[in-house]
Amino acid sequence: MEQLDLILSVKRGVFRRNDTNTEVADKEFKLVRPRVIARDNSCCRFCDLKAEMQDVHHLDDDHSNNDQNNLATADPLCHGVNHIGQVGLSGEGRIIFLPEIDQRDLNHLQRTCFVVMEMGDVKQKELATKILRRLLLRAATVEKSPWQTSAPLDFAKGLINAGEDEYSRREIVLNGLRLMYHPKRFVRYLPYWVKNFISLPMSKWGKVYADAVRTKKV
Ligand SMILES: [Zn+2]
Repeated sequence: MEQLDLILSVKRGVFRRNDTNTEVADKEFKLVRPRVIARDNSCCRFCDLKAEMQDVHHLDDDHSNNDQNNLATADPLCHGVNHIGQVGLSGEGRIIFLPEIDQRDLNHLQRTCFVVMEMGDVKQKELATKILRRLLLRAATVEKSPWQTSAPLDFAKGLINAGEDEYSRREIVLNGLRLMYHPKRFVRYLPYWVKNFISLPMSKWGKVYADAVRTKKV
């Protein structure tokens, strides 16, 4: 399965409350959901994370379109990036300016920090908290920019009101902006991530970093 682009997005146009056949669509979705996850081998189509507990995303935002081609397995971090209005409404996110790391890698980094904060030793927990805090400082960069806000809901409102053309170019307009999460959003998922977390001793981090830098240059 090809990897899908991960762009800050909102649910536009089709709203569930306007669907006349919501109940039928929900029944259909429940049936097709496990098939989609099996097809994708339990891997997030946006970032490749394999996990026991996954979401399923409607690619065209139409929740009554349960055609398997319209459905993609998504981990909850990548899923939230597709629904920043919903993340904003629940007060569980901030927009930061971080052009150095793409959203996919940032999701892996955040998830790893959340897992470490759950299962790590004192020193590791401290480090994970520090990383997240440092990243969150970049919300101030967005607040001081012409955007003047780091609230996902403000960005969601803009995206909902944008014209079709403008919306399709959102990746350029929102260049360097990323979504950061509050860990409380993933309480349900954490036990599954912790269970299968592959630990990497801190002594090996230097080599991993050097490899990553070298790979990026090629
Ligand atoms: Zn993902």
